[in-house]
Amino acid sequence: MHVNDHDRYDLLVVGSANADLVVGVERRPAAGETVLGSDLAVHPGGKGGNQAVAAARLGARTALLARVGDDAHGRLLLESQKEAGVETAGILVGGAPTGVALITVDPSGDNSIVVSPGANARLTPQDIRAAGPLFAAARVVSVQLEIPLETVAEVAAAMAADTRLVLNPSPPAPLPDHVLAACDPLVVNEHEARYMLGDDAGSTPEEWARALLGLGPQSVVVTLGAAGALVADGRTGEVVTVPSLRVEAVDTTGAGDAFTAALAWRLGLGEELAQAAAFAVRVGAAAVTRQGAQASFPTAHEVPAP
Ligand code: ADP
Repeated sequence: MHVNDHDRYDLLVVGSANADLVVGVERRPAAGETVLGSDLAVHPGGKGGNQAVAAARLGARTALLARVGDDAHGRLLLESQKEAGVETAGILVGGAPTGVALITVDPSGDNSIVVSPGANARLTPQDIRAAGPLFAAARVVSVQLEIPLETVAEVAAAMAADTRLVLNPSPPAPLPDHVLAACDPLVVNEHEARYMLGDDAGSTPEEWARALLGLGPQSVVVTLGAAGALVADGRTGEVVTVPSLRVEAVDTTGAGDAFTAALAWRLGLGEELAQAAAFAVRVGAAAVTRQGAQASFPTAHEVPAP
């Protein structure tokens, strides 16, 4: 892989890219049953793909390291990344079909989802080692858990000394200590915080944040939906609440990905954690006011004023 000297990236996202295949149904089929649904809608998704698009749309120089299949879904995902302005030299092709999420939506809006990780499961530690120039060129690296854990561990090991790692443990899974220690910050929603803390969670978000710091990350961000976020810095021991904007939420899909991408970008520009989170809650708030995941992510102009 060739990266020019002038190709410095604000953000390198390492993660999943999926095609979301969505069908509306009157009701879910029981075992052995067939039901007819609406026309198929195909949307680009996956946490890695979402974060990369969110950052690029805000104006960040962004690269995505991911794996897709040599198929129509893979080409759709490459296209959507390019259209958002993401550098796609790090998107590897082949080895398995593109990851898909098979989503049925019933009239109440509830989703049933089957994920086939496909090529995402074939993003290997070797792929990370081969992407050394991308890592060397990035101010911040953002990773989630929709790729193999051993690959995430290699990302933590591949970090250059002056590069910052932002990790969102979604879907939640146990993390090795050396990965936790590299996080600056670990970004969790309420569900992920409870998973990571188990019975020791405590009862308030502030208690969660302090308990999460005890697991070893340099800093912690807890997202709290309409309530905004909480940031905790292990260096100062300071915990700060970052209130959200009051908005009319129509679809919260991808809000966490937009938040994390915005946060990671701003941290790379040198902002303090609380300052970067204050920007990220505005991006998250904008994303929930529109339908869809990537389709809902704002440009810099569309981010509401504080
Ligand atoms: P996830 O999407 O991972 O479950 P959250 O629900 O905590 O995570 O949302 C992430 C961020 O998106 C929040 O910190 C907030 O900034 C924004 N957000 C989510 N829901 C709302 C809402 N109803 N109103 C305003 N902002 C929201």
